[in-house]
Amino acid sequence: RPSLKRPEATRVVVVANQKGGVGKTTSTVNIAAALAQLGQRVLVIDLDPQGNASTALGVEHRRGVPSTYDAVVDGEPLSEVTTECPDIPGLWVVPATIDLAGAEIELVSVVARESRLRKAIAGHPWVGTADEVGDERFDYVLVDCPPSLGLLTLNALVAGEEMMIPIQAEYYALEGLGQLLETVEMVKAHLNQTLTVSTILVTMYDARTRLASGVAEEVREHFGEQVLRTTIPRSVRVSEAPSYGQTVMTYDPGSPGALCYLEAAREIATKGAPVR
Ligand code: ADP
Ligand code: MG
Repeated sequence: RPSLKRPEATRVVVVANQKGGVGKTTSTVNIAAALAQLGQRVLVIDLDPQGNASTALGVEHRRGVPSTYDAVVDGEPLSEVTTECPDIPGLWVVPATIDLAGAEIELVSVVARESRLRKAIAGHPWVGTADEVGDERFDYVLVDCPPSLGLLTLNALVAGEEMMIPIQAEYYALEGLGQLLETVEMVKAHLNQTLTVSTILVTMYDARTRLASGVAEEVREHFGEQVLRTTIPRSVRVSEAPSYGQTVMTYDPGSPGALCYLEAAREIATKGAPVR
């Protein structure tokens, strides 16, 4: 099994885009699985009440299961709501239940409402530097955000150092990104100076269409270095995998989608954490 050098400290990567259906969840779970296959220790935090990341990782997320809600709203230790992904060694999950839908409103009246997730992550005994935590440390914490810019996504932006924005290679791909980037600037100015948009990933790329290559080009012009060289092709295998409670990395590891996610994960790891 090919291995990668582990980062010196846990990298917290927020996967966000307020547009739905752009590949946030698919990219979160597959990059997480790929990083784990490359020998990294990875935690996925499902921050979307729909619980799609939990489903794809084969983790129970019916009401009553210990979940993100308990950590973010009730302040339970994150380690208490973390479970192992059954199929993929080196991968852990904090599942989301539908209770999280209420959190957007419940959090409004909670103390330090924007930094609940940050606090939860920082309190996990496996988060930190090699010196502090040792070999047990998570190398990556990936946060799968809901399709909105509400308090949950805000919590993620305050919690992370890095942000990954998946962009679907479609018409209007860049629409709405202005608002997202304004939110990032607001968070940087007032709540989390260290937040950096480190990674742009072009998803559902259809090489047969001029449209897709045009969008990819436009995204590259706009973001430059931040855009991964690897794009993710549109592939039925990728979209089928969740209905088997799997990522495409285990469902069909030889498929083009899986190979591209592996390559994207390698790029993210090789680029390293952004320099401050
Ligand atoms: P988001 O989390 O941003 O709402 P999803 O990751 O759930 O987006 O993806 C939206 C839909 O597109 C899902 O049905 C998913 O299976 C499908 N999808 C995502 N990536 C691909 C891909 N590379 N090829 C084919 N279908 C994809
Ligand atoms: Mg999603």
